[in-house]
Parts: sequence; structure tokens; C-alpha cells
Amino acid sequence: MIQDMKSDICLIKKRHKTREIRIKDLTIGGSNIIRIQSMCNIKTAYFKKVLNQIKKLENAGCEIVRVSVKDDDDINGLKKIIKSAELPVVADIHFDYKLALKSVEAGVSKLRINPGNITDKWKIKEIVSAAKNNDVPIRIGVNLGSLEKSLLQKLEAGKISVENAMLESALSETAYLEELDFKNIVVSLKTSDVLSTVKSYMLFSKKRNYPLHIGITETGTLRCGLIKSSIGLSQILSYGLGDTIRVSLSADPVEEVYAAYKILGALNLRKDTPDLIACPTCGRTEINLIKIAGEVEKILFNVRKPIKVAVMGCAVNGPGEARDADIGITGGKGVGLLFKKGKIVKKVKESEILGVLKKELDAMIK
Ligand code: SF4
Repeated sequence: MIQDMKSDICLIKKRHKTREIRIKDLTIGGSNIIRIQSMCNIKTAYFKKVLNQIKKLENAGCEIVRVSVKDDDDINGLKKIIKSAELPVVADIHFDYKLALKSVEAGVSKLRINPGNITDKWKIKEIVSAAKNNDVPIRIGVNLGSLEKSLLQKLEAGKISVENAMLESALSETAYLEELDFKNIVVSLKTSDVLSTVKSYMLFSKKRNYPLHIGITETGTLRCGLIKSSIGLSQILSYGLGDTIRVSLSADPVEEVYAAYKILGALNLRKDTPDLIACPTCGRTEINLIKIAGEVEKILFNVRKPIKVAVMGCAVNGPGEARDADIGITGGKGVGLLFKKGKIVKKVKESEILGVLKKELDAMIK
């Protein structure tokens, strides 16, 4: 992962070469950019509300959206959602293989099945046959919380490690799909434990080259979840793994999309996200920096351009420390200074500084 320790240079390993898979109009895998995914948290049967949420996710930059399909009411909702949604819609199926068949019939762009809870081979065979006939990819979504019984027993008896159990589940399911001559596969191996998840993805990537949907599952609330997800995902990504990404949070799914951009942007894996630089504040701070930085973050929330914006607390160090920024503001005594690439270009009243920055940003974004 972290390479070249002698010279203290951290490098992201070359991306693992995976097969290309089509999901509606998107191609994932290969050398395509890592696509951002999220999941609706409203029952799919309530299609109007779900469509509304999908629109919000799309506006935030989400590229693939997953919905749960639990019963026939959800299938009816799914049909309407597929007709109206711009984004590729993935149907999340557990236990009932017939719901997978009905989702394919409804025109879903991808299926997610859990090898732990649809185990009868003849049922999987039917799903694969429907997916094959309709050119629908299948994600084999292995999850530690719902592994096959036999693997859980081995785990409980201490006969297998978590990551090897995850690997075994993913490999046996992919092997069966391959036996059925089906390779339109995406794989995920999620646990809520950061290191086990990282190891599981690493182990699987050595065995197969299917595109990987990456994520740490059930990471918790916005604050805790962001920390766990960032640590885990940055390690997986640093190994060159990952073709689609979801940051699972107990929060508004729009936050998941925002976080995914931030993680990919920080690792230089996506360039279509702004970077907000803000100083940590200290005794020299001369403006209400925390409030202003929060406002600037809101302005940048849906922006999909690679601009660097700085909010710095004092004129002495601010512009110099943020000379990398395309544009920035800093506080002086009762004044606000606007700077570009480290050079002060305008002096305004402190109360006007946010408005001035917003105007400049709007012009830059356009
Ligand atoms: Fe302190 Fe100024 Fe540095 Fe902000 S930019 S941390 S106010 S010295």
C-alpha cells in the first residue's frame, strides 16, 4: 500500500486491472474512473419519495443508486422508479430469488444478491439466466453479518479467519456463476471491521479480476462513520482496488456521496471535486473562521470542479500558507482580504468578505 518508505514518498499502487462491466450507460472497471454509489433509505414502494431522493443524490453527484426490493409492493415501485430515474438503478435482493427475477423484468440496471441468503443453486441458476438474457450485471455482495451457515460455523469454531471466510464465500459464488458461463459480475466483501474488510478485498483481488464495489459497512453515524470509512477506503484504494464506492453512513445518503468525492479527491482519484483549505484557527485568528469555513463548505457542496478554496484566519500567515489555493479569504483587523494564488487582490469590510468570495466563486464555477 504505502510504497517507497525509504524516500518517505507515499504512492497509490497502480490500479488493479479489472474486467469492464456495463451498468446502463456507465462502464465500470478497467481504467474507468471510480464511480460513486449510494442507497435510498425509503421503502421502494413509496416511489415518489424515492424518486425525490434519487434526484437529490443525482444533484450531489451520485452515479449509481441502489434500492431495496423486499416485496411485490417494492417491485411495483421499482417499475415506476426505473421509468423516471436518470441514474442506473440497482435492486438489492435478499432471501427471495423471485424478487430478483421480477426486478430484471422491471428493467433494473444491476442486481445485488447476497450469497449468504440465496443459497439453493437452482434459484441462483434462474437469476443468472434472467440476468444473462437481459444483459444485467450481478453484484455478489458478501457481507460478514450474513455469511453462509457453513462458513459461520467454521468461523465460530475458529477454523477460518474472517477475511478467509469472506473470500471463500465470494469465490464459491463467482465459481458457480462462471460455471453457468456468466461473467457480468461485480463483487463486494464488506464487514464493519476496517482491517478485515481491507484484507478481504486484497485477498479476493489476487484471485479474480471482477470489478470491485468497495465500502466498509455499518460504520455508524456521520462523525464515526466518516472516520472509519476514510481509513478503510483509503487503504483499499491505495492498493489500487475499487471500481465503484459507497461510504455507508447512518445519515442522509447525500452525505455518503459528498464523502465519497472527498475521499477520492484527497487521493487524486477523482479530479471533479473542490478542495477546501481552512486553517485550524489559533490565537492570531482575526475572523469568525469556523462559521465562514462552514458557509464556504455549503457553497461548494454540489460543485463538481477541481478548484481549491482557502479560508484562513490571519493576514500574516494565511495567504502564504494557502498560496496553492485558486482563491481564498483571510482576516485582517476588521477587514477581510481576498487572495488568488497567494496574492492579495481585494480588501473589503470583514462583514462583506463571504459575499465577495461567493460572487467570485460563482463566476469561477460558471
Ligand atoms: Fe493561526 Fe493565521 Fe495559521 Fe490560521 S493562518 S492557524 S490564524 S497563524
